[in-house]
Amino acid sequence: MGKKYIQENEKAKRVLKTIGFIALPLGVILAGSGIFDAFRRFEAFPHHQGGFGFVFRIFLGFALVFVGISCLSYAYMGKVARYTASEIAPVKKDTANYLIDGTKDEISDLFHKIKGQTIVNCPYCGDENDPDAIYCDYCGRKLRVTCDCGTENQAGSRYCKKCGKTL
Ligand SMILES: [Zn+2]
Ligand SMILES: [Zn+2]
Repeated sequence: MGKKYIQENEKAKRVLKTIGFIALPLGVILAGSGIFDAFRRFEAFPHHQGGFGFVFRIFLGFALVFVGISCLSYAYMGKVARYTASEIAPVKKDTANYLIDGTKDEISDLFHKIKGQTIVNCPYCGDENDPDAIYCDYCGRKLRVTCDCGTENQAGSRYCKKCGKTL
């Protein structure tokens, strides 16, 4: 995190605080007057044919309140949120990686199944390899044993699948 970033962040916070302090009271006043007008119009003067400006004011007022609260909460809680994030992030990241890894394996498994292929597990390290792999992509050992008859057998096989000779 560079100094420039911090300075810009502080500047952004000041802007957010300013927006928040303007938008929030303005929103409250606007929504309040809109609601007040709505009550006055429908209850005290039910026959009064006025415009529906109050609907717009209520809507805009609530929007401003929302914007104001968002800006202020970000400006003031940014520090807290960042602290919490840095505390939680490593754990979260690990969990995410774990989940992604697990999902990745499952997806590749599924992918191979869809393609009608089966994964060949390396007999030495157990790593999953493509069925057409000759060498293990993890430990580098040969996954095929060629019999004298020319048939390729999976490494670790004791007998040739074609002629039955001991490998
Ligand atoms: Zn291997
Ligand atoms: Zn053979």
